[in-house]
Amino acid sequence: MHNYQNILVAVDFSTHSEQALSRAKQLADIYSADLQVLHVTEMPTYPVLEDIAITGLPGIWSDEVADKLQQATLKRLVSMAEKEGIPSSACEIVVGVAKQDIVKHAEQMKADLIVVGRRGVSMIQRLIGSTADSILHTASCDVLAVNLGDNE
Ligand code: AMP
Repeated sequence: MHNYQNILVAVDFSTHSEQALSRAKQLADIYSADLQVLHVTEMPTYPVLEDIAITGLPGIWSDEVADKLQQATLKRLVSMAEKEGIPSSACEIVVGVAKQDIVKHAEQMKADLIVVGRRGVSMIQRLIGSTADSILHTASCDVLAVNLGDNE
């Protein structure tokens, strides 16, 4: 039997990822594995030319706004994790692109299992290709996509 030792769970605050968090904690307890909880903050982008998009919203998006957003997001992540009995030290947020940075983070921490929700908050993602599907195709470790059974 395989013993998972390093588990990464990706949280986007959807009910699916809440379920993923709970499942990841159960698995971490069963395997006595290290558990890390990751949220990726995706900055807004806007098109300037047909092929070029710029990150941020000029006049609205500043470093100060970004800092405040990150602090509030971390607080929310920690509170969600603590409800599951996961310490704040296991929580991390990074700025980037979820489907890429979750896999990158998993590689850095040598994760042997990534746990995600089958769906997330983004409706657009379903049209352009979901985060869960992309992780499943690019990760070099096992991926568990937790399904709430509401295949709407
Ligand atoms: P999606 O494929 O975007 O509908 O999301 C599926 C799952 O991927 C979510 O339930 C989360 O577990 C994870 N996920 C999506 N976006 C993010 C994000 N920005 N940060 C962390 N996890 C994410």
